Amino acid sequence: MNDINIEVSKAYYIGEKYSKLLEKLDILTLKDLVYYYPIRYEDSRNVINIEDIIINNKNIIKGRIIRIKSIYTKNRKNIINAEIEDNTGIAKIIWFNQPFITNSIYEGSEIIISGIASFEKGYPLFKSPEYDIIKENKENIHLSRITPIYNQTKGITSKWLRSRIKSVLDQINIEDYIPQDIREKYDLLEINIALKKLHFPENFDDISKAKRRLGFEEILYIQIISYLRKEERKRRSSYKIVIDRRKVDKFIDNLDFKLTKSQIRSINEIYSDIEKDIPMNRLLEGDVGSGKTIVALITAYITHLNNLQIAIMVPTSILAQQHYNYAKNLFNDIRIQLITAKTKRIDRSASIFIGTHALLSNKDIFKNLGLVIIDEQHRFGIRQRETLVDKGHYPHILTMTATPIPRTLALGIYGDLDISRLDQMPTGRIKVKTYIVPSEKREDSYKFIKDRVAKGEQVFILCPLISESEKLQLRNVEQEYKNLKENYFTKERIILLHGKTKDKDNILSKFKDKEYDILVSTPIIEVGIDIPDATIMLIEDAERFGLAQLHQLRGRVGRSNKQSYCFLFTSNPDNDRLKFFSKNNDGLELAEFDLLKRGPGEIYGKNQSGNPDLKMASLLDKDLIKITKDAVIDIVKVLDKYPLLEDQVRQVQSRILSIN
Ligand code: ADP
Ligand code: MG
Repeated sequence: MNDINIEVSKAYYIGEKYSKLLEKLDILTLKDLVYYYPIRYEDSRNVINIEDIIINNKNIIKGRIIRIKSIYTKNRKNIINAEIEDNTGIAKIIWFNQPFITNSIYEGSEIIISGIASFEKGYPLFKSPEYDIIKENKENIHLSRITPIYNQTKGITSKWLRSRIKSVLDQINIEDYIPQDIREKYDLLEINIALKKLHFPENFDDISKAKRRLGFEEILYIQIISYLRKEERKRRSSYKIVIDRRKVDKFIDNLDFKLTKSQIRSINEIYSDIEKDIPMNRLLEGDVGSGKTIVALITAYITHLNNLQIAIMVPTSILAQQHYNYAKNLFNDIRIQLITAKTKRIDRSASIFIGTHALLSNKDIFKNLGLVIIDEQHRFGIRQRETLVDKGHYPHILTMTATPIPRTLALGIYGDLDISRLDQMPTGRIKVKTYIVPSEKREDSYKFIKDRVAKGEQVFILCPLISESEKLQLRNVEQEYKNLKENYFTKERIILLHGKTKDKDNILSKFKDKEYDILVSTPIIEVGIDIPDATIMLIEDAERFGLAQLHQLRGRVGRSNKQSYCFLFTSNPDNDRLKFFSKNNDGLELAEFDLLKRGPGEIYGKNQSGNPDLKMASLLDKDLIKITKDAVIDIVKVLDKYPLLEDQVRQVQSRILSIN
């Protein structure tokens, strides 16, 4: 049994029934099983004498069973009574509903137990303690050591996993993907040793060494793939763009605000990319409201001056409409075409095309696509991001995101991108004040809103779901709208918006033109929407949202020089995440907080973390990031010398591409 890719059902000791259960943990092969990492460890090394037991505390003792008896009560419950002895005394044990224990523990068995001890009838008593049977010449794997704890599922316990992983590790020998010279150079454990130390460490140093090796492996693949992609890009050719500085500067001077320093810096970084004939692949990252759109549109303008076409892709039709309106206003003599699922006729002579995914199905309209801009790019899968790209001449690509990405994580996810950051807000912005509002303060908030509306300010009221059919009793947006309109905001102009609203793209334009005061909406307005006079964002059932999402929603207000507010309505005002959010306005810190609590997959989506194999969250480990980067340079040059590694890289690569 040396092939770790065989199915678990074929393995000794596992069988059909457990294989089905293991499937729920995504464990299909023996490899999956040994790569099923512990989520934490319990230190059970501290075995004490029976005479030293501390009552009402957790104690670990070791001794010989001197009596054991299994009985059934009248209502067919099993009870096992036992006594255990060491050189210092006797303790009693009682196990409920585990009749199988007498199959392996008898009078004379040496065992270790761990549990809370009480004191009854003159003896310490352990109720249903954990146990581990001591066998000659066999290492203890459950107790009296640093014990690994796994994520469990129904029918599969940590104890079960431990013993199966142990027997697999004892029987197989994995061929190491990481070549020996690389292991030596970067001081990494051999894979079989690393896995043994991870699951059955002798000390805490074993765990960190094992984690380092396994984390190295995870990041190395991503780094190699990024590297290969970047190399591939360098072989492609794109249109060289000539920058007419005089015209662009004039355009910038005519804007009704002054660009921030970081906007100017980003534009310069973009200039130097697009002047070359290899395609730009740049991510413009900036917190909500930092002014990414104008940077993109200036790039579009330059490209237009070169008689090249520009495609701007956004995730929602509402946002497409908003960008379209904005661009039309800004460039009154450039032809701009909006493309959404509803578009019937397309003016192919247009220069700038702004649209949703619908752009992808109209690829043939492009004759000389010079620039692709993708807004809110985290909303698109990797495949979608690249579709507009695969044509004879490769366009320059500018992607934008407001979901801030911790720097190290960015490297992992977007390693093949160059990054520009807008780390500065336009001047005059006032920090949004955020309050957690318990149920009893609901009406006060409504009063506050009325006052603000009377002053000409606008309000978003956000509800998570649109229909009653949802299992959870969350505020239904339609009901809520009716309720607010009839009972609270009878004089105010209030309007409803959700995914199925007719003519939804225009509702926002009307809201922006101040035909309405209050917009009751679902999260479809989460990204990108820009309504400068809106000063209040009220969020129902706020605890339902991730912090990055809440931050995006909050970013819909505070876009002018008026004080803005974010009200988090919740039935759980003590929620940790909400508390942290209410005190923190920095998107990056919020993302890191969520990252630590929930892992990369949860925040950026599985297809964003791009790698379903990331288990060690090693992307936060700066040392690993650095050494893997160095190692890539060593490895890629001779990748064909390392067929095992090459094969692994191909596998990860094809999995990443198949996610969308
Ligand atoms: P985001 O980065 O979230 O996409 P937007 O591009 O929508 O932000 O910009 C937010 C608002 O700030 C818009 O109303 C925009 O016109 C305005 N804005 C952009 N840059 C500046 C600036 N340098 N000074 C003042 N306002 C600006
Ligand atoms: Mg935006």
